[in-house]
Amino acid sequence: MNFDLILRNARLADGRIVDLGITAGRFAAVAPALAGEGPAQDLGGRLVVPGFVETHLHLDKSCILDRCSSEGSLQDAIAEVAAAKKAFTETDVHDRARRTLEKAILQGTTRIRTHVEIDPRIGLRSFAAIRRLQAEYAWAVDLEICVFPQEGLLNDPGAEELLIQAMEQGADLIGGCPYTDSDPNGQIARIFAIAKRFGTDIDFHLDFDLDPGRMGLDEVCRQTVAQGMGGRVTIGHVTKLSALPPADFAAVAQRLKDAGVAVTVLPATDLFLMGRSFDHNIPRGVTHAHRLSGWGVTCSLATNNVLNPFTPFGDCSLVRIANLYANIAQLGRPAEMAACLDMVTEQSARLLNLKDYGITVGNPADLVVLDAQAPAQAVAELAQPLFGFKRGRRIFTRPQAELHRP
Ligand SMILES: [Zn+2]
Repeated sequence: MNFDLILRNARLADGRIVDLGITAGRFAAVAPALAGEGPAQDLGGRLVVPGFVETHLHLDKSCILDRCSSEGSLQDAIAEVAAAKKAFTETDVHDRARRTLEKAILQGTTRIRTHVEIDPRIGLRSFAAIRRLQAEYAWAVDLEICVFPQEGLLNDPGAEELLIQAMEQGADLIGGCPYTDSDPNGQIARIFAIAKRFGTDIDFHLDFDLDPGRMGLDEVCRQTVAQGMGGRVTIGHVTKLSALPPADFAAVAQRLKDAGVAVTVLPATDLFLMGRSFDHNIPRGVTHAHRLSGWGVTCSLATNNVLNPFTPFGDCSLVRIANLYANIAQLGRPAEMAACLDMVTEQSARLLNLKDYGITVGNPADLVVLDAQAPAQAVAELAQPLFGFKRGRRIFTRPQAELHRP
């Protein structure tokens, strides 16, 4: 059998060492000691993942730190970005989002769900810029666009009409942000109605505080079941869950599992913004995704914001986010650290309902080679991605660090 490319001695996340035969942009064979002809490269037993999957990234408001002077609270961050947003032009959004997107690609991310703000102030300018990027970078990344009203829906006349225009123009799914709405449950109902109309998944920015009372989560689970949308609804942040004692947390986990609602945890932003009213013993405010996952809830870890008042840091590395989460959640055993890598790869792909993800014959040959031998090592040591492929074509290379001895 002939292949366009053979990558030999690739270590998969389950520990197997295999050769990967790639033809016409797809995995044509995945087996040990593959017999076949074609240009070959030896990976030396390095860990290969099918690309990182970023489930929650705000490209449109990335890289605006130089325009903001936030005091650090969530309310400040929303207000600062709302003010800066008025001056966004399509070109400006395109330039900043492109820088962030290229960083993500260079960190080995091959699939992204990006959240784009829509409201009467920004109109469809950010959406238009991100749609251009979606097409321009299709060679490197599958970018899906979730449009949502960051500043509320029912309190913001004109926002819903704009969201519907974006959906008509090809947005991939609809999101919500009930915690900024004057009528949170009313917004949840409207977002479900839009999703039903366009037949798309939903991704809510659900709650963002440490008060476990009055959870929007109950309403989202109720609507998910009522509308028959299990497996198609995601909630992000849900920092309230970090404030629940174990028995209450278990009850919520069971409810999420039964409803088929997935969860994205955003450790960088949650760490940065939560617990601002404390001056000592500051709570982390990061919900335990691995515990929810243990209950059977689909969970991902994601970047959220990059270089803005919500998160003034960011290199778009999902290995770093997995490491950060493992550190916060105090996960040090190899299996636990491997589970963190799973939440930026396989589980994230499940959350996005990707049907063609994974190193399996027939799937697009998306893969990233890491400078590590095992998933736990990759998380523990923040393993660098060395190079990556999208649909069988090499899309980036990062040279391995080397010492220059005297
Ligand atoms: Zn977000």
